[in-house]
Amino acid sequence: MGELSGTVLAPYACDPARSRGRRQLEPEAPTRTAYQRDRDRVLHSTAFRRLVFKTQVFLNHEGDLFRTRLTHSLEVAQLARSMARTLRLNEDLVEAIALAHDLGHTPFGHAGQDALNECVRSQASAGSTEDEVQGFEHNLQSLRVVDSLEERYPAFDGLNLSFETREGILKHCSSNNARRLEAREPGGVAHRFVAGGSPTLEAQLCNLADEIAYNAHDIDDGVRSGLITLDQLHDEVPLFRRYMGLALSTHPGLKGRRLLFEAIRLMLSAQVYDVIDQTQYRLTAAAPEGVAEVRACGALVGFSEDMRSGSNELKRFLRAALYHHPQVQDTTDRARLVVKDLFHHYLQHPYDLPDDHAGKRSLTRRVADHVAGMTDRFALKDHVRITGHTLFA
Ligand code: MG
Repeated sequence: MGELSGTVLAPYACDPARSRGRRQLEPEAPTRTAYQRDRDRVLHSTAFRRLVFKTQVFLNHEGDLFRTRLTHSLEVAQLARSMARTLRLNEDLVEAIALAHDLGHTPFGHAGQDALNECVRSQASAGSTEDEVQGFEHNLQSLRVVDSLEERYPAFDGLNLSFETREGILKHCSSNNARRLEAREPGGVAHRFVAGGSPTLEAQLCNLADEIAYNAHDIDDGVRSGLITLDQLHDEVPLFRRYMGLALSTHPGLKGRRLLFEAIRLMLSAQVYDVIDQTQYRLTAAAPEGVAEVRACGALVGFSEDMRSGSNELKRFLRAALYHHPQVQDTTDRARLVVKDLFHHYLQHPYDLPDDHAGKRSLTRRVADHVAGMTDRFALKDHVRITGHTLFA
């Protein structure tokens, strides 16, 4: 049983001393555990620094106060760490997973990903190779970044992270891609998508912390942008109404920004406590003795039924009112065009690509990796360079 910040890890927590290890054998660090080292490698990576200029919902140039992928990742890490500590799970591992979970995101958020996926798949008809068929998925791309695309170490490609960190990063995966990964790494990070089973509790926790974080900060950013209003949230989102009411009953007359922040703060706290209580309850019932038993159980980290339905309603509201708002839709339509133009340019002008481990990948995959790695602002500048058109003022 490992020890962390004075708190003894639970028997079902991941213990770095019992990690399934790294793909390339390396000597242990003298002062840091394997997961601390993973977190530090992520933090020092090039892909991590790029997150600061990548879109979460609002394009990076639309305002200085909106979340970016970087601040989103930090908020996920904060939530996951604080829940992990109370549940006596491994804080270093959740931090490593949370900081790395969005490394594979394209510029312009989900619009960029969808466009790139279409582009890669469109190449499949013309003499399809394995690369084209697999399309583009940002979770898979996050794994590609840490497994092979980062170029920092003399002895290996990627960051050579521990198995448990890599497994947490691959939180979703299509069954086709899972089978391909499993063939390359039998019993590896994609095994659970093929054979069933759950990831570690730390991975499950990061997944839920991601949802809690984006729901809360998208409310904040949505109101800041003027695309949704407090009244709308009050009228259409029962979960938010509950905590807005609580804020007002404790602080009568509270309004505007402070009311918004207080309602979000109360909602965040309630969700965190709900996860802790519900997860503790399920852990007590399932009583897993170690990580192997956790893998054989269904999802153990989760919301109560009431909070799950409240969170789902909130997500539905944000999808309809914010993500599909005509103004957001208009910018994402243009962002899609930028990604498509970039993809086709590099496909037709491969000599324009940077010269990094060129030989190991198909041209389609090299182009996809290059475009996916771009920040919003680099993509916009590059798009002006190659087309002469300015799609965003
Ligand atoms: Mg995320």
